[in-house]
Amino acid sequence: MARKILIVEDEAPIREMLAFVMEQHGYQPVEAGDFDKALEAVCEPYPDMVLLDWMLPGGSGIQLAKQLKSQDHTRHIPIIMLTARSEEEDKIRGLEVGADDYITKPFSPKELMARMRAVFRRVSPTSLDEPLEVDGLKLDPVSHRVSANGSAVDMGPTEFRLLHFFMTHQDRVYSREQLLDHVWGTNVFVEDRTVDVHIRRLRKAIGEHDRLVQTVRGVGYRFSAR
Ligand code: CA
Repeated sequence: MARKILIVEDEAPIREMLAFVMEQHGYQPVEAGDFDKALEAVCEPYPDMVLLDWMLPGGSGIQLAKQLKSQDHTRHIPIIMLTARSEEEDKIRGLEVGADDYITKPFSPKELMARMRAVFRRVSPTSLDEPLEVDGLKLDPVSHRVSANGSAVDMGPTEFRLLHFFMTHQDRVYSREQLLDHVWGTNVFVEDRTVDVHIRRLRKAIGEHDRLVQTVRGVGYRFSAR
């Protein structure tokens, strides 16, 4: 699936040029010309990256960066700020509120691609397609297969997504609500209890590896080999 890139830029020619460059490089561009449109565009499926113009009508880029980096479900989205040469101090402020990098206008498509690739490498050093293994429990995202100590494990698609999320987010506690956001998506209406049902199924499916899926009383669940 093509990576979704949200382009937030009020100057239409620049925005369209960026969208064109994204398409050329196999990305899926989504354009937003102002602050509100940008906020609207940050929804399921979440963008894999935001290219964010500094000066925006209806709110500055820094406000948007701040907002995205302060919310659990958008915090992980990398942001590259697009700034003008004269805004040296703003770049520092941008990085302070959590922008992952910045690029100074005017820039070449080649320069931008190099920056984007570097940021992607930094935020997700392992590819999403790479097989995962924890204590003999293996998950292959490409073939959709799970095995425990060499024997195949059968599980439903939701348990698979849940396990994949856990294996890529180890040693951190997630509330039921957070798991719903990450695994089911925020636009889906399901009750918290649903999470417990699927956790139970997942534990049953992985047998003795169920110790990896830990209940944290009063908070939620954690996946950990410790
Ligand atoms: Ca602008």
